[in-house]
Order: sequence, then structure tokens, then C-alpha cells
Amino acid sequence: MAANNGFYYINRYKCDNNTVTINSILLLFIFMNAQLSFTDEVKTNTSVIYNKIKNTIPDIEWPFIAPYIHEINKLKKQTNTVILAHNYQTPQIFYGVADIVGDSLALAIEASKVKEDNIIMCGVHFMAETAKIMSPNKKVYLPNLKAGCSLAASITGQDIVNLKKKHPGVPVVSYVNTSADVKAETDVCCTSANAVKVVESLGVDKVLFLPDEYLAKYVASKTKVEIISWHGKCEVHEKFSEKEIAELRKNYPGLTIIAHPECPPEVIKASDFAGSTSHMVNYVKDKKPKNVFLVTECSMSDNIQIENPDVNFIKPCNICPHMKSISLSNILDCLQNKKNEILIDNNIIERARGSIEKMIAIGRQD
Ligand code: SF4
Repeated sequence: MAANNGFYYINRYKCDNNTVTINSILLLFIFMNAQLSFTDEVKTNTSVIYNKIKNTIPDIEWPFIAPYIHEINKLKKQTNTVILAHNYQTPQIFYGVADIVGDSLALAIEASKVKEDNIIMCGVHFMAETAKIMSPNKKVYLPNLKAGCSLAASITGQDIVNLKKKHPGVPVVSYVNTSADVKAETDVCCTSANAVKVVESLGVDKVLFLPDEYLAKYVASKTKVEIISWHGKCEVHEKFSEKEIAELRKNYPGLTIIAHPECPPEVIKASDFAGSTSHMVNYVKDKKPKNVFLVTECSMSDNIQIENPDVNFIKPCNICPHMKSISLSNILDCLQNKKNEILIDNNIIERARGSIEKMIAIGRQD
């Protein structure tokens, strides 16, 4: 079946045995990649991937998706390219074409070790910048340069300079969800997987913790160090509410609820456990809850469910439009046309790398 003749592809998520459309992400592939067809070769070469992700996509869509996966996997070998993908990417990217997957911390670590000449980051802009900072001699590409992040957009390097003047001598801890300019003004970065450990590693009474206000509150609840915060918020996690959690508890007695620390404090309080995406993965793998609700971006549940078929995932989730602006179509375009290279001033790279390396040296918290 040809995958080129202009068709609408509605990305659906399967939820509790029903196929549902979340926000009806409408992807329009018009007259492109005329050579892509669902041939016997494509079918054979993608059968292992299909068997893995078939429960997350409607069967009717596979003949359109498989040729992209096949072509991307072929081209990345020919062009000496490695594909990194964040946990919030769709299963077709996460399991279909990515070589390395994980949370922001894992991707930052792995980006510093890749052997290939080219890196494609399936994530958002700050993640591609982080990869470039950690591997400045590689060419790093982002399939959609507009894939931003509300947290990263909430603060600039100049804001940090101003804050440092206002709070002289107070070290700056920045969430990795920030631009290269912000990282260049930062003492040490952190992710939600190690924020408390990073803050306490400094051995000081007070830190500037930027830019996520809710993560700052979460860290403040776990440490005696005084936290001076900023007003950034994740547009995905801030939408979850205490009322939603209460309704879920009523509808699914015994439900285990795991919240991301970027959620509002009252949502975290109403949940059974709070942790980063990697903590969520480990919690589900180790504790095997019967029914679980991950209070985070939609694709997390799909991607973890594939590895944990015995766990029932309840999925009233929120979608990240930035993460979901990465598609098989623009990954292929990136590979074919070497589009959207990430370029950062060398001076910024040098200054920013120190703050990421310090974070990596501190490692994860349990
Ligand atoms: S989920 Fe939130 S923090 Fe992550 S990229 Fe999207 S907007 Fe940014």
C-alpha cells in the first residue's frame, strides 16, 4: 500500500481496551516520499517492531507507519547516525527507530558517549542542545526546530545574570529543561531524577533553583536547604488537578497513582508516589501494581505498558505538543536532507558543559 498519496493519519492511543483519540493529533502527509510502500521486504523487516507495539496503534495504520520505520532504520546506518528518543516519544519512534531511549539525564549521559558522527534527537530543543554541548564535535539534528518547552521558554540567560546580582554568592541549580544560554550561567544542572541530591551536594544553606516552580516546591519539601524559585511551569503537568486524582480513586478502587514532580503540589500530595520518568519505570517494573495511573505525558504509559503487559494502565493523560511535533515523517526528512542542525556558540558550549558534567558526576538519586 502506497504511503504517499496524501492521507490523514490520526494518532490514536488505546485505553482500557478501547481505541480513543487523545486531542486528535492530526498529521497530514501530503505527496511525500513517493517511494515508500508497504512491500514484503518492509513487512518482514518490521515484523519484530510490529509485534512489540501492535497494541498501541490501530492495525489499519501499520501499512503507513512501517515504510517510514524501515526507511529510517536503513538510512541511519548508511549515514552513520544514532537516534536518541525521550520517554515521551510515541511507541513507533521509541521502539521503532530509536537506538537509545530514556529520560533527560540518561540522554545527556548517552549523548556524551556516542560513536556515530550524527545524532538525531527525538525530543525537544533543549535536549538537542544538551546533546550538542556534550558532543560538540558531532552534528546534532532536531527533526522539528519548533519543538520547544514551556519551562525552557520561561527563563533566559539574562534572567539568571539578574538573579545572581540580586542574590550574590547563592549557587544556581538549573533544571536541565533550560536553554544553553541558561546552562552557561548555571553552577550545576539537575533533572527530576536527581534534583534533591544535586541541591544537597552543594553543602550550602540556600540555592537558586530554576525554572520549575513546582519542582522547586517538591525539592523544598525534601530538604532543609532554602530554595529560591522561579515561576516556570510545565504546561503538561500543571494541568493535572487534585479533583481528577480524587475521581480516579473513586472510579478505580485500589489504583496506584504515580505523579511527576513537575505536577502541582496538591496533585503530588494526593498521589502514592512521586518520581521522575525513570523512577516511574522502575516503580512499575519492581512493584507491578495491578492498576496504575501515571500522572504525566501520555506516551509514558504506552511505552512502559509494552514492557509490563501484566500491569493495567489507566490513561487519562495530557499530551505534550512539543514532544508530539516529532514524527516519523520529520525524522526521515532530517535524515534525508540533513535539516535542522543545532548550532551553538563555542563559548556557550564550554561554559554550559561544566554545569551538565557536574550533574552527571552527581548521578541519580534512589
Ligand atoms: S512535557 Fe513539559 S517539561 Fe517536558 S517538554 Fe513538554 S512542556 Fe517541556
